[in-house]
Amino acid sequence: MARHTTWRVGGPARVLYCPADLRDLAAFLGRLAADEPLLWLGLGSNLLVRDGGFRGRVVATRFGLGALARADEVAVRAEAGVACAKVARFCADAGLRGAEFLAGIPGTMGGALAMNAGAFGGETWARVAGVETIDRHGRIRSRAPSEYRVGYRSVEGPAGEWFVAAHLRLEPGDRGGGRARIKGLLERRGETQPTGVPSCGSVFRNPPGDHAARLIEAAGMKGACRGGACVSQMHANFIVNRGTATAGDIEALIEEVAERVARVHGVSLEREVHIVGDHL
Ligand SMILES: Cc1cc2nc3c(=O)[nH]c(=O)nc-3n(C[C@H](O)[C@H](O)[C@H](O)COP(=O)(O)OP(=O)(O)OC[C@H]3O[C@@H](n4cnc5c(N)ncnc54)[C@H](O)[C@@H]3O)c2cc1C
Repeated sequence: MARHTTWRVGGPARVLYCPADLRDLAAFLGRLAADEPLLWLGLGSNLLVRDGGFRGRVVATRFGLGALARADEVAVRAEAGVACAKVARFCADAGLRGAEFLAGIPGTMGGALAMNAGAFGGETWARVAGVETIDRHGRIRSRAPSEYRVGYRSVEGPAGEWFVAAHLRLEPGDRGGGRARIKGLLERRGETQPTGVPSCGSVFRNPPGDHAARLIEAAGMKGACRGGACVSQMHANFIVNRGTATAGDIEALIEEVAERVARVHGVSLEREVHIVGDHL
């Protein structure tokens, strides 16, 4: 899984399934044993897979769920495997405003729905008019946002379903302006976050009224390392892989940071990053 996650670590999955399209995915799920463990994977930009790997099937949406189209004057349908940046550019080029923030999220539409990903003041679910889901039997449903409890980087909805598409409602905008706004946002980001090194973005959620990065830095953990994993010098809520990190190094550093922040500040940080799989 090191090849499929942005931290570039993680042991093997038993099976990596790349659906050809939605129909293929439905047939695959329909044939699956009831107790087969499943892991949904977008671009692996918020996922730590342990070194022992994942004993089950990984559904890699980015290979087949790639449809992206305008649904009406102000709405777009994006399948779960489409990269968020592609959705942002598509909307900008279509003269639609409100999806620019997606350009800053290096994941898929499915991952953004699962995480309520947000950047530059925008949030995924603020734009969701509806979603399509699939269950373990391959049944596809349309669902309304009111069926989900959505919070900061958290989404709870009907159990046993995964996202296969989003319907986004946007606003009419100026055709040229969207691309310029995206460029401006990405330039700002490059100045404050480490780019070009393997990471998973922010490791912890910001606690109410504060910033995890500030707490981590004030606790003296900026630059701290475990094996090949280090707390970024540029942004203390990022853990970067200097090239030799194992998932074990990263998980140990995550725990050490959380313990230190709890000891120094009395604040219990909640993890944003999802951890799955077996220890070696
Ligand atoms: C450099 C960097 C910067 C980042 N900046 C931001 C940021 O500004 N804002 C932000 O919110 N995040 C940010 N992230 C984190 C990450 O990009 C987001 O959380 C993103 O939404 C994850 O999408 P993904 O497709 O990579 O999901 P993955 O990492 O593949 O999966 C994440 C979780 O979602 C589940 N999942 C994936 N697809 C589906 C599906 N179709 N249905 C149901 N569940 C699914 C997975 O099982 C997993 O639990 C950043 C990451 C990096 C590496």
